[in-house]
Amino acid sequence: MSDTLAGALSQLKKAASYTDVPDEVLEALSFPKEVLTARISVRMDNGARRSFEAWRCRYDDTRGPTKGGIRFHPDANLEEVVTLAFWMTFKCAVANLPYGGGKGAIRVDPSKLSRRELERLSRAYVHAFASMIGPDRDIPAPDVYTNAMVMGWMADEYSSLVGYPCPAVITGKPIPLGGSLGRDGATAKGGFYVLNNLLAEVGLENCERRAVVQGFGNAGATIAAMLHQDGWKIIAVSDTGGCVHDGCGLDPQKLAEAKKEHGSVIGYAKGVSGGKVTTMERDEMFALECDLLVPAALEDQITKDNAGAINASVIMELANGPVTAEADKVLEEKGVTVIPDILANAGGVTVSYFEWVQNRQGFYWTEEEVQHKLRPIMDRESAAIWRLSQKKSITLRTAAYVLGLERIAEAIQAHGTQNYFCP
Ligand code: NAD
Repeated sequence: MSDTLAGALSQLKKAASYTDVPDEVLEALSFPKEVLTARISVRMDNGARRSFEAWRCRYDDTRGPTKGGIRFHPDANLEEVVTLAFWMTFKCAVANLPYGGGKGAIRVDPSKLSRRELERLSRAYVHAFASMIGPDRDIPAPDVYTNAMVMGWMADEYSSLVGYPCPAVITGKPIPLGGSLGRDGATAKGGFYVLNNLLAEVGLENCERRAVVQGFGNAGATIAAMLHQDGWKIIAVSDTGGCVHDGCGLDPQKLAEAKKEHGSVIGYAKGVSGGKVTTMERDEMFALECDLLVPAALEDQITKDNAGAINASVIMELANGPVTAEADKVLEEKGVTVIPDILANAGGVTVSYFEWVQNRQGFYWTEEEVQHKLRPIMDRESAAIWRLSQKKSITLRTAAYVLGLERIAEAIQAHGTQNYFCP
């Protein structure tokens, strides 16, 4: 078992010790319900055939169909998919959505594929996993290095396979194919609502408002822009190309332009004169003194090796699993508050749920309606988790797991005892 999966399960076990949930529930939630591995063959533009490893996991469907993104990444692997599906199970329960958790991935570097190769690969994924996914069974969405365009191809392929338009099979689609307004920035927006809800509680109300953001994709670029607009100083931002730093604050709009032009936020340093902007190795940013650190790249970024150097008051996890279980202990001892992923980034899956609802009812909402429905969910669940953490004197992460676990256990109980009578 990978350290990441072991760490995730240890967090569940810790949370369980603050509940009356029976051991058999804990045991059931310690393993994925269904995992499928496939080798996908695709014709490249040069005529050659290449094959790719791919996975889909339905971790637990007690509370409803499984829900979770599809990642295209050169380091993707089965254990990562299972861990991400585990986190999705608890995230959906924390947001109180009628879903279980799932996840999928292809081991590929999509930047090395042409657009047509990427489309063939996306469609081939749907062919390989068609028996597993479905609007009432398992509903994928975008994740790292997949986007609305990929979701559109996948929804189109699934619709061709079943013989009728089936937009509800996938979320995060382009708007003309049944995507929801407000889905693009939903992950960051949800995090922004959570942060503002807990601002006084986590001691940030009167801080200097200095933020550091790791990752400048869908989640990272959007939260940087939202914080900037709200008066925060974005003092450092990184992506795979490196990190840019300016104690006086970076402009997220110009960062986005630099990334577009130069392929990395590092390009920002080229376009600014005056010598205030510096570049650094991408992980050096963790040691910068700031009020808020937002990891928005990948899992396992803050580990026992660099957690000691963290100089932030609060970490808000927009990425899934950016802080390892060992690092969590170090941060707790240092007094750094962590707003956990299964709460902080739940805005994305919540608006995905809205998209699925709109697809099924065939009636679409305005962006205002989407925001109007998202905010109360983030407000309600962040307040509940804060209260639980205070009542039981536990971290926000443990409180979030306690809340999710109790909801899943309640659903297991409500399902009854059919399993005792079936062979
Ligand atoms: P994305 O592909 O749009 O962006 C990822 C960004 O991270 C890129 O800018 C990339 O350059 C950067 N990056 C990768 N490795 C890095 C490293 N070692 N150091 C610094 N930067 C690095 O992905 P995204 O959709 O923004 O997802 C980011 C994280 O948020 C993932 O953990 C994902 O699972 C999580 N998440 C995303 C959503 C969503 O709706 N997009 C929802 C929930 C959670």
